[in-house]
Amino acid sequence: MASRREDVQYLEYIFSQFYDIGVNSYGGVTRLGYTKIEDEMHDMFKDLGEEENLHTYIDEVGNTFVANDISNKEYYLIGSHLDSVVNGGRYDGVVGVLAGLLILNWAKNDNLDIPIRVGAFRCEESSNFGKCTIGSGLITGELKRDDVKGLVSKTGRSIIEIFNSKGYNLSPKKIENVKQYLELHIEQGKVLEEYDIKAGIVTHIAGPRRFEICIYGEAEHSGATPMDMRSDALCAASEFVLELEKLGRKEAHRKSVTTVGVLNNNPNVLNVIPGEVNLGIDIRGIDINSLDEIENGMNEAMKRISKERNVKFFLQSTGRFDPVKMSTHMQKKLSECSEKLRISHKVMPSGAGHDAMAFTRVCDTAMVFIPCYKGISHNKSEFSSLLSIYDGAKIIYEYLKGEK
Ligand SMILES: [Zn+2]
Repeated sequence: MASRREDVQYLEYIFSQFYDIGVNSYGGVTRLGYTKIEDEMHDMFKDLGEEENLHTYIDEVGNTFVANDISNKEYYLIGSHLDSVVNGGRYDGVVGVLAGLLILNWAKNDNLDIPIRVGAFRCEESSNFGKCTIGSGLITGELKRDDVKGLVSKTGRSIIEIFNSKGYNLSPKKIENVKQYLELHIEQGKVLEEYDIKAGIVTHIAGPRRFEICIYGEAEHSGATPMDMRSDALCAASEFVLELEKLGRKEAHRKSVTTVGVLNNNPNVLNVIPGEVNLGIDIRGIDINSLDEIENGMNEAMKRISKERNVKFFLQSTGRFDPVKMSTHMQKKLSECSEKLRISHKVMPSGAGHDAMAFTRVCDTAMVFIPCYKGISHNKSEFSSLLSIYDGAKIIYEYLKGEK
């Protein structure tokens, strides 16, 4: 087996091959799903696989695979994504693919007779089409043609047009023979760093529920309208924002979180009472009862506020995923592996969504988190050390060795 220094050098080499792809003038990268830039990322991944004399192939929706065995045997799938948000970082998704390549390398050097494939799944981020995990969703049946056929990219290209031009298929065959799925990912939060722990073994992936609320008041002269004759949409929205925060705090013990991330005020003019406000709401958690409680509380709060403040509102759901559970058996074994390797670990939920969600539909699934600097993600300052990637990959490799 190569020394740790050689392994880290290899990681540095493959990381650097992706470094400049999609770089923008702000210093971050923009690698939107199903764009030319994402194609470049996938081509590079394929090249890196070929450099190691491994098998490579692309599936019906453009996901790229590097494998040590492409026979019909059941295989272990390690994966993540190579796309990013607009002006995002270089670690989200990419580290999982790098870890996979390193693991294939180890398996080759050790003559480990286990079929392993590393997958890079298309368009994990919702930044380009407003929908996430498209590549992994389509091949696992999590997403159907009808769920995606109407999608249009940020630049106005329809997904149908893109798929046609590349020869991809919106109704692909379901992925087969996957024994288990493993994904290494940056935590995208600051828990591991705060506790100075090297790895997280994921228990659940939180399910997001998203809503949009439009609040309609009356846009009137801010000087001529007395305080008792107003219906101010922004004041109503403000009260709602704080109510939703309260609901989230009340459910924090069940690990739920609530956020109003979007607030558009109209007409947004100094001397006009706000007449219309649009809110974007993101509720996440791992416990369905807790999510239900928040959702009911949210509806009640909005009704009460609308009555008290004499505003009308329209509330609609814009997305809903149930929380998913990672395999208990795999969690336990991964924890044992990190103990054996003396890599400190913590068992924890994932607040963010990942490709792993889709794979829970077809096989046992597990995730390993590594720390990232200050928990920053979806930002050019995103950072995780090569040693962290190395440690996380070690845990997964130890796990695979135990499977033999
Ligand atoms: Zn990611």
